[in-house]
Amino acid sequence: MKQKRKLGQIVLAVLLVLGLVFTVVACGKTESNENVTGNEEVVYKVACEPTFPPFEYKDIETDEITGFDIDLIKAIAEESGLKVEIQGLGFDALTPALQAGTIDIIASGMTIDEERSKQVDFTEPYINSGLALAVAKTNETIKSEKDLQGTKVAVQIGTTGAKKANALKEAGIVKQVKTYDTIDVLMAELAKGTVDAVINDLPVTQEFIKKGHSEIKIVGEPMDSEQYGFAVAKGKTELLQKLNDGLEKVMESGKYAELLEKYALPENAWPK
Ligand code: GLN
Repeated sequence: MKQKRKLGQIVLAVLLVLGLVFTVVACGKTESNENVTGNEEVVYKVACEPTFPPFEYKDIETDEITGFDIDLIKAIAEESGLKVEIQGLGFDALTPALQAGTIDIIASGMTIDEERSKQVDFTEPYINSGLALAVAKTNETIKSEKDLQGTKVAVQIGTTGAKKANALKEAGIVKQVKTYDTIDVLMAELAKGTVDAVINDLPVTQEFIKKGHSEIKIVGEPMDSEQYGFAVAKGKTELLQKLNDGLEKVMESGKYAELLEKYALPENAWPK
C-alpha cells in the first residue's frame, strides 16, 4: 500500500516536471514566433531589371546587383529603419510582381507616368532623365528623330522607349520595332548592325558608350524629359510615406549628392 502511494507520488512529480518543461518551451516558442512576424523582422523585397547602368547592374567581380538606385534605396531604408533585400526581374515583370505581392518595392529607373500611376503608387521623383536616340557611329544618315523614316528601331520591353518607338511606327515613320528583354542585348544588336537605332534612357546609353560600346553614338536632342520614382503597390501608404520621408532625409544629409558623384551623374539629374 505504502509502495503504491510512493509510486503515485513519483508519477505525479514526473508529470509536474514535464508540464513545467512544456510550458517553458511553449512560451519560448511563442515569443520567438512573435519576433519573426513582428514589424522589426519584415524584410522588404526590392526588385529591378539589372542591365540598366549606372542605376542598376551586376557588378562583374561580385555578381551582386549594385548601382545608384540600389545604393539610394538602401540609404533610404537605413534612414527609415526598414530592412531590404534586392532581386532581379524582367522589366515587364516588375509591375505584375508588385501587384501580386511577390515584391514590395520597384527600384528600376522606372519613369513616373500617368498610365503606370493607375497601377502602382510612386514616390516623389528621385532622378531627372529622358529618352535619347542612338545609332552606329558609322551611320551618317540618322542625325535626329526626323531621320527615322523606314528604319528598324530596337527598344526594351515595357519601357517608355518602347512606347515612343511604337508611336513612331503608328505614325508611319519607323518601319519596324524590335523588342528585347534587356538593355545589354539591344546595345549589342545596334553594334552588330541588325537594327538602325535604339531608343533608351539617355544616362544609360551614355554609360554603355563610356563602358566600352564605342561603336555607338547619341544623335539629336533628348527626345523627352522624364523622372524616375520608386514604386509600391497601390494603397501601401505607410510604406510610401516611409520611402518619401527617407528620400527627403537622404537628399538633405548629403548622401544623395555623394551618390550622384559616385555614379558620375550630372547635378541636373537631381530633381530639386
Ligand atoms: N525609364 C524607362 C521606363 O521607365 C526605362 C526603365 C528601364 O529600362 N529600367 O520605362
